[in-house]
Amino acid sequence: MKKFLSLFTVLVFSLVLVAPSFASAAQKLIQPINNAYITAGYLNANYQKKFGFKHYGWDLTSSNSSRAVWASGSGKVLATGYDNVLGNTVIVKYPAAYIHSTGATKDLVFRYNHLASIAVSKGQSVTKDTRLGNYGNTGLYSTGPHLHLEIDTDTTYYQYSPTLGSSSNIIKAGTASTVLSPKNVLYTKVSAPDNQSIYIIGDGYQSSSEDDLPFKN
Ligand SMILES: [Zn+2]
Repeated sequence: MKKFLSLFTVLVFSLVLVAPSFASAAQKLIQPINNAYITAGYLNANYQKKFGFKHYGWDLTSSNSSRAVWASGSGKVLATGYDNVLGNTVIVKYPAAYIHSTGATKDLVFRYNHLASIAVSKGQSVTKDTRLGNYGNTGLYSTGPHLHLEIDTDTTYYQYSPTLGSSSNIIKAGTASTVLSPKNVLYTKVSAPDNQSIYIIGDGYQSSSEDDLPFKN
């Protein structure tokens, strides 16, 4: 009987040890505009010179007529609404995201700003096939239709962004230490049905033809 019990114990412990690895299988997050141009890169020096503040994300536009912004993977909408400074805003949390620059797996928050329209609501579950809205030109400092995307490892204070020096109604003034460059997280899903592509404009507001581009997947 003792032998049986210890075998049983071993089995139970094996199950406990194995189960979490299924739960935490990392997801690869893909770019939010299927055919995209990066018009301003992460912490671009020329951007900072021109606008007087650091750029803690990517600016993206579409290389075709679609203005659709898609979720980057499986996640949950944390907040939506019109921010008085950054325009129509969606915030999504993506659990267990694979960060290809370090090999780590972390819960991430994506902040989407300047949207023309919002197609999701707070608490909604999303997949990569969920349209979050269309990008646009809303907010105080948007100079043309584009998506501003920020990626943050701080999922507790998800509405805090280093982009704002003083707090607005949705986005609050935050610090930069938890923000990641999108290129360290995102993948370009070149296979069907997404058939994604991404290019830089090459006008000096991106780091280089290589540095700002995500991995192909
Ligand atoms: Zn931007």
